[in-house]
Amino acid sequence: MENKVIIFSAPSGAGKSTIVNHLLGLYPELEFSISATSRAPRGEEKHGVEYYFFSADEFRRMISEDKFVEYEEVYQGSFYGTLRSEVERIWAKGHAIVFDIDVQGGVNLKRIFGEQAFSIFIQAPSVEILRERLVGRGTDTEEAIERRVAKASSEMEFAAGKFDYVLINDDLQTAKAEAEKIISGFLNR
Ligand code: 5GP
Repeated sequence: MENKVIIFSAPSGAGKSTIVNHLLGLYPELEFSISATSRAPRGEEKHGVEYYFFSADEFRRMISEDKFVEYEEVYQGSFYGTLRSEVERIWAKGHAIVFDIDVQGGVNLKRIFGEQAFSIFIQAPSVEILRERLVGRGTDTEEAIERRVAKASSEMEFAAGKFDYVLINDDLQTAKAEAEKIISGFLNR
């Protein structure tokens, strides 16, 4: 198999992690890319499992040594990035790399990997349905809901035309089946 990359991005509330975890359980040739970060581990997080943890100084040194495929300072002083060694580690096993990354990161990775990559944007069926879901959940204030809806709406606009495939998560079972079909097609191409 040619070295392949699959990128998943989504606004919050679109059901991305559920779909990504379903696919990882189904296809043994898919392997999740572990990012490097300079933020501190939370709770039970372990080096080499959720992230590779480094100090900000170590991270900056690795940037200067060109160790990253891509990186971003997501919060002030908190760097996140994909190590070249991680990409090589996964490809060496003959596996396809899976990225679960924010919308901007997804667009950047697609630009970097080009034809080797297939990028999927997962979204709620419409802004109205997203709003209904958030209202139905009953955990956010009206103001917080409007803020989330506005953010999702601008991310959808930003994403339009920048991803290889837009997967509408209306019904979860249907979305999972659709995701399986696209991934099988890409892996066998
Ligand atoms: P958290 O600290 O909650 O685990 O992640 C914070 C943010 O960092 C998320 O939006 C996540 O998408 C982003 N992130 C995680 N890994 C990477 C990476 O390798 N590169 C980039 N650019 N962003 C990442």
